[in-house]
Amino acid sequence: LFDVLVVGGGPAGASAAIYSARKGLNTGVVAERFGGQVSDTLAIENFISVKATEGPKLVAQLEEHVKEYDVDVMQNQRAASLTKQGNYQITLENGAVLNAKSVVLATGARWREMNVPGEKEYRGHGVAYCPHCDGPLFKGKAVAVIGGGNSGIEAAIDLANIVEHVTVLEFADTLRADEVLIRKANSLNNITIIKNAQTTEVVGDGKRVTGLSYIDRISGDEKSLELAGIFVQIGLVPNTEWLKDSELVLTRFGEIEIDSKGATSLPGVYAAGDATTTPFKQIIIAMGSGATASLGAFDYLIRHSDE
Ligand code: FAD
Repeated sequence: LFDVLVVGGGPAGASAAIYSARKGLNTGVVAERFGGQVSDTLAIENFISVKATEGPKLVAQLEEHVKEYDVDVMQNQRAASLTKQGNYQITLENGAVLNAKSVVLATGARWREMNVPGEKEYRGHGVAYCPHCDGPLFKGKAVAVIGGGNSGIEAAIDLANIVEHVTVLEFADTLRADEVLIRKANSLNNITIIKNAQTTEVVGDGKRVTGLSYIDRISGDEKSLELAGIFVQIGLVPNTEWLKDSELVLTRFGEIEIDSKGATSLPGVYAAGDATTTPFKQIIIAMGSGATASLGAFDYLIRHSDE
């Protein structure tokens, strides 16, 4: 029986595990892939106090830090359901059931992909998903933003300060972003917005992105753009599908609702990182929220230890 069972081994889960273990709690971590999205990241330049690092290097350090403590790390295991009979049960896809007095959910999220040729090949070599992270890598260059929702237009406005030019490609005939953002984007002379544009291919020279192709959905013409970077902003999907049958309250986007202590709608169940309603999705924020969730769980446990 775990005092705290952490589901997810990204920055939020790793931080939650360390904070729990440091409270002397019997702590376990179940993770499909330790490191989470950080494993897919090349340059990281905004993890404060570390000027520059790389995803796999930071993942190795996270793992080393967690292993300093007596934490039971169960890797390559996927959680399939959360139930409560007395304590909480996390049932894994392999059928094993883990029991815990409290749970920290930190299963993160994944960027929705365009699923066009070249996207995977040039991921991290011009295809990017996070303007806060990778914007400065394209200083003075031309980039595209795919998606004209709030995140796409915010990304375009953000990038316009750094890069030479931003072309926004929106599939539909209208932008779904807030009017105030659209007005701001229209006022900047280095942003071009193209609607009715279906991106069909990421083009590169074998090493890096050099452009993209799209179809003008009105005329049917195939067009191309020369670019150094493509920011895909068509949604971030929380990895919470496995929680849909639980009692837990999720938003309509599937994000886990949390309060300022990381508490969810279920007593004793806390959550952290990109899987939650936390508005900004970043490594440093995920780590902070992992710490918050574990301290929240500790608070809960000291109040319910005799039940
Ligand atoms: P994740 O990192 O998504 O980790 C989720 C964990 O849960 C993983 O271990 C996963 O295997 C596990 N999991 C999921 N479902 C299950 C399940 N059912 N059962 C068991 N385990 C499960 N942020 C920055 O601050 N700086 C950057 O430079 C930066 N660059 C990025 C570049 C890329 C390409 C991407 C994709 C993201 C980048 N980010 C960056 C964002 C950052 O990686 C995330 O905000 C952060 O990793 C979120 O941490 P997390 O722990 O909440 O989730």
